[in-house]
Amino acid sequence: MIPYGKHSIVNTDIDAVIDVLKNHPITQGAKVKQFAASLAEYCQANHCVTTNSGSAALHVACLASGISDDDWVWTVPNSFVASANCAVQCGAKIDFVDIDPITRNIDVNLLESKLIEAKRTGKIPKAVIVVHFSGLSCEMSKIWELSQKFGFYVIEDAAHALGAFYKGCPVGSCQFSHMTILSFHPVKTITSAEGGAITCNDKTLATKLNLYANIGVTRDHSLFVNQNFEPWVYEQQVLGCNYRLSDVHAVLGLSQLDRIEEFVCARTQLANSYMNDLKSLPLKLPIVEAQSKSAWHLFVVEVVGHDRSEVFKRLREKGIGVNVHYIPIHTQPFYQQFGFDWGDFPVSEQYYRNAVTLPLFPNMSDIEYDKVVSSLHEVMD
Ligand SMILES: *Cc1c(COP(=O)(O)O)cnc(C)c1O
Repeated sequence: MIPYGKHSIVNTDIDAVIDVLKNHPITQGAKVKQFAASLAEYCQANHCVTTNSGSAALHVACLASGISDDDWVWTVPNSFVASANCAVQCGAKIDFVDIDPITRNIDVNLLESKLIEAKRTGKIPKAVIVVHFSGLSCEMSKIWELSQKFGFYVIEDAAHALGAFYKGCPVGSCQFSHMTILSFHPVKTITSAEGGAITCNDKTLATKLNLYANIGVTRDHSLFVNQNFEPWVYEQQVLGCNYRLSDVHAVLGLSQLDRIEEFVCARTQLANSYMNDLKSLPLKLPIVEAQSKSAWHLFVVEVVGHDRSEVFKRLREKGIGVNVHYIPIHTQPFYQQFGFDWGDFPVSEQYYRNAVTLPLFPNMSDIEYDKVVSSLHEVMD
């Protein structure tokens, strides 16, 4: 089966991990600091805090925003459940904004009208978590404008979008947001096996992110509440979690970050080939935007005039590991308990009914690529 996504590990990655195992601290050492610094540099952000997953990064971002019981948090239905779970984990109330059918990202016009309504009813969200679906940036300048006007945190879920650019800046620079979260799961742009990070430009926020990702405990005297500087003293100041990335994972991420151009370039070339080789089929292809450079995490087509389930099954039978991203979050049993149901966000639902994710990963061979294209032609012609 040709998978929809797969990591690429080479000997330099392996040697870097072995070196840490043999010669360095395996957690809380220099590699974690180096990985955070390199990510900040790559993303052109002032600060970066690493975590042991993207989901943990989202949770920490919500905790550092002070999100709690009385707050609303909004995200999109077309994402992995983690984009919504982080708010519920803080006790907040969750709501969704539907997507734009072309970009498959948050519909900023719907966001604006929902904000106007929320202002009237006194339910402005504390944070809006926007998702750069498939690696294509949302309309961040417009979202930032709305955040300045209505007053909410903008958190970018960039799990798909490390290596993407928007208006000339790398995603993660937080040019138009308060924080950006990243994931290093093996299907994402770079991997640390499991891992995640949050970038931001505000020092106070960075300190909070660090605290919440480290159990709420600090040994930094300059941050102490009490003036007890005995050498063994540490302070717990908030209720955090142990979301630390280990040095074993960090060094793999660091080694992978060296290869990010190669990864994004390979993904872009494959996406361009798909665009060309699939254009005659009854498929709605992803868009390419002028002001934006996608990281091409996913290549999602929407079938037109065909039964998605049928197309999906026939492709799987042919050894094509197609996938579906995403079942709308609000239709999951866990979210239905909050009163959501099918019909609530029709654009995400309509998109979902026809969506098929095709295999796309840096080491995809010509043979594998050709097999995907010819199978699609056989199934859809
Ligand atoms: C992968 C992913 C996450 C979560 O990342 P993990 O590292 O797997 O916890 C969050 N949001 C989106 C959109 C993702 O694709």
